[in-house]
Amino acid sequence: MAGVERIDGGPRSVVVVGAGIVGLSTAWFLQERGVEVTVVDRTGVAAGASWGNAGWIAPGLAIPLNEPSVLRYGLRSLLNPTAPLHVPMSPDPRLWAFLARFAANCRWPSWNRAVRSNLPLNDECLEAFDVLTENGVQAPTIDSPITAAFQSQKQAQGLLRELERMAEAGQAVRHVALDTDQVRAEVPLVSPAITSGVRIEGQRYLDPGRFVRALADAVAARGATFHTTEVVDVRTHGTGVTVLAASGDDVSADAVVVATGAWLSRLARRWGVRVPVRAGRGYSFTVPTDQPVTGPVYLPEARVACTPYQGALRVAGTMEFRDPDAQGVPARLAGLIASAEPLLDGVRWRDRTDVWVGPRPVTPDGRPVVGEVRPPNVYVAGGHGMWGMVHGPVTGRLLAEQVTTGKQPAALRDFDPLR
Ligand SMILES: Cc1cc2nc3c(=O)[nH]c(=O)nc-3n(C[C@H](O)[C@H](O)[C@H](O)COP(=O)(O)OP(=O)(O)OC[C@H]3O[C@@H](n4cnc5c(N)ncnc54)[C@H](O)[C@@H]3O)c2cc1C
Repeated sequence: MAGVERIDGGPRSVVVVGAGIVGLSTAWFLQERGVEVTVVDRTGVAAGASWGNAGWIAPGLAIPLNEPSVLRYGLRSLLNPTAPLHVPMSPDPRLWAFLARFAANCRWPSWNRAVRSNLPLNDECLEAFDVLTENGVQAPTIDSPITAAFQSQKQAQGLLRELERMAEAGQAVRHVALDTDQVRAEVPLVSPAITSGVRIEGQRYLDPGRFVRALADAVAARGATFHTTEVVDVRTHGTGVTVLAASGDDVSADAVVVATGAWLSRLARRWGVRVPVRAGRGYSFTVPTDQPVTGPVYLPEARVACTPYQGALRVAGTMEFRDPDAQGVPARLAGLIASAEPLLDGVRWRDRTDVWVGPRPVTPDGRPVVGEVRPPNVYVAGGHGMWGMVHGPVTGRLLAEQVTTGKQPAALRDFDPLR
C-alpha cells in the first residue's frame, strides 16, 4: 500500500469477522497500517444492526444506557410487549444473568464511569469519520443539530438534567432550550401536543446502509477479499490463527478481529470474555412526510429517533432483549407507531416501507469490549449498544493501532474485553 509503513513485528494479515460498521472500520484502518485484510460475514455487508439504525452521528447524545431511571422504567414495562423497553418472559438463564448484571450497573457511579470511558471515543469520533470520507469512502455525513421535542417543559427538564450530568462527567454538549414557537419553527412536523424542545448543536447524521456499503467498497478497493460464510470457531497455532467456516472455506492469517455485534458472545465467551453482549433489538421503518424534514428529531418520551432518510423519514426505536435472530414482533412495531403518532403531524404512517428489526449489541456496564483476548492474536470489538455507528470508526482506528503495535492505547483500557 503506497505511502504506508508496516509496523515491524506486527501481523501482516488479519481476518476480520463481521462486516458491520465496527468490523469494516477496523479493516479500513488496518489497511491504512499496511495489513492485508480478509473480511468474513455470515450474510454480507451491513447485515446486522449497522443497516436499519437511526444514523445519528451524535457524540453529544451518546449517553450510556445503564441509567438508574432505565431500571425503574424497565421493571414497570417488563410484561408489556408494546412498551418502549421490553424483556420477554423467557427461561434463558443467560438472559437473566445478563439482566442482573445490567441492573447492578444501573447506578450513578457505573454510569459516570461509562460516560468517562466513552469520552475519548466521543472526542475523536467525528474526526475518524472525516478520515474515512476524505480518503475514499464515498458517502456523506451531514452536519445538523438534533432537536428533542417534548409535551411539557417539565419533561424537557429531564433531558436538560441528563446533559448537565454529562457535562459534570466531562462531556459538555452545546444545547439550547426551545419554547413552543421555537420548537415548531425548528420542526414543522411536530403536533400541537409538543410544547417545548431542546436543540443539541454540532451533531451529524448519515444513511447507515449507504455509508457501510461505501466503506466495504473502499476496503475492497484497497485489496481486501470478502467471504460470505458463518465463522464457527477460531484455532490458534504458532504465531497465527485459522478461522473455521461453516462452508469449509477456512481462512488463515496472522491474527483475527471478531466484530460480530450482538452475536459476539457466542465466540468470545470461549476466550475468557466474561462481559456478555446481548441483543437489545430495535425496530425501524421509512415513512413519507407532507413536508421535508431538515434534521434528526428526538422524541424522548416515546424513546423514538427520527432521521431524514432518502427524501422521507426513518423512524427508529424500542428495545427488547430477545434472540438476535428471532422474527420481528408485530406488537413491538405497533407500540413504536402508537407512541410516536400523537407527537408528529403530516406523517403517512400507513405508507411505511423498509420495516426492519436489528440487534443493538448491549453490554451490562455501558462500555464496549475492544481488545486482545486469550489466546493471543485474537481480538474482539463490539458491544457499543445504542452508539455503535458513531463509535465504530474511532474504535476501528484505535484497535488497528493495538493490533499493529501490540500496545493497548490508553483510550481502550476501560474497554478491555478481559475486565
Ligand atoms: C433501532 C436502532 C437504532 C440505532 N440508532 C443508532 C444511531 O442513531 N447512532 C448510533 O451510533 N448507533 C445506533 N444504533 C446502534 C448501532 O446500530 C450498533 O451499535 C452498530 O451498528 C453495531 O455495529 P457492529 O458492527 O458491532 O454490529 P453489526 O452491524 O450487527 O454487525 C455484525 C455482523 O457480524 C455478522 N456475524 C455475526 N455472527 C457471525 C459469525 N459467526 N460469522 C460471520 N459473521 C457473523 C453479522 O452478519 C453482521 O453483519 C441503533 C441500533 C438500532 C437497533
